[in-house]
Amino acid sequence: IKWTEGRGWHDAQLVPYAPLSMDPANMTLHYAQTIFEGLKAYRQPDGTVATFRPDANARRFQASARRLGMPELPVETFIEACDALVRQDKNWVPASGEESLYLRPFMIASEVGLGVRPANEYLFIVIASPAGAYFTGGVKPVSVWLSQEYVRAVRGGTGAAKTGGNYAASLVAQAQAAQHGCDQVVWLDAIERRWIEEMGGMNLYFVYGNKIVTPELSGSLLPGITRDSLLKIATDLGYEAAEGRISVEDWKAATEDGSLTEVFACGTAAVITPVGSVKSEAASWTVGDGKPGEVTMKLRKALLDLQTGATPDSHGWMHPLG
Ligand code: PMP
Repeated sequence: IKWTEGRGWHDAQLVPYAPLSMDPANMTLHYAQTIFEGLKAYRQPDGTVATFRPDANARRFQASARRLGMPELPVETFIEACDALVRQDKNWVPASGEESLYLRPFMIASEVGLGVRPANEYLFIVIASPAGAYFTGGVKPVSVWLSQEYVRAVRGGTGAAKTGGNYAASLVAQAQAAQHGCDQVVWLDAIERRWIEEMGGMNLYFVYGNKIVTPELSGSLLPGITRDSLLKIATDLGYEAAEGRISVEDWKAATEDGSLTEVFACGTAAVITPVGSVKSEAASWTVGDGKPGEVTMKLRKALLDLQTGATPDSHGWMHPLG
């Protein structure tokens, strides 16, 4: 779908996957006005297909657009575009289980010009790809590197938007994590380098027995849809679920005194991933016994059961496509 200043959204098309041709002076290539989303379509027990909370993705896409000076796509148009692609690619939605069809809606500037200002023309596109189960051969905890040198986002910056620049800024720290033998980076706040924010592509949860806590939306972390869903699912299951502030020192001290029993990360791609160990310049420690925890696995199952239709959709989150 195209957007042009003065004309709005127009020319929606469903076309076979193919390369885009682009002018070398396309403004996106220079000034990075790009935003995106990620959501999944799951096969339901009766053979139909449903997406999970596409309205939440549509609203986050609008918030990202506002931050990047781009036009807002109406929620209904976002959902209709995703629906049209899923219907077309229905046979690509795997038969059952954790496998899914991953949808990647995105928007880029399409105007040609070298001046730094919001573009006057944009292109909204949705592509899809089958996604296997994130873990094959059992859920495996990840090791994380606490990045003290680099930050992903600052308050007043673009951290709460899903825009390419945030990911470009994170690549060097991700490479550092790998050099330290860790799977993922955990980002800290930009000012004190002390408060836990999120992981490279997932939000974090800390489990204290019957209570689960996720870092509050500081303005510099992404408001994950899985994060939001788990606040509600955990409450349904009888846990106390809250948003709060967790520092690196709290994490280490609560691990040592045994009050912090599990830590996990959550996001559309991996659903829920246990965090097994932590490393920073100053220290390293194991989370709980380093194995996937009971609460983590219970929440993981509850969320997946809902997405795959094994349990009733009591929150009205599934968007059926027939
Ligand atoms: N944080 C970041 C930086 C991400 O890229 C993602 C993935 N979209 C998340 C958190 C998790 O968000 P969601 O649950 O909506 O996938």
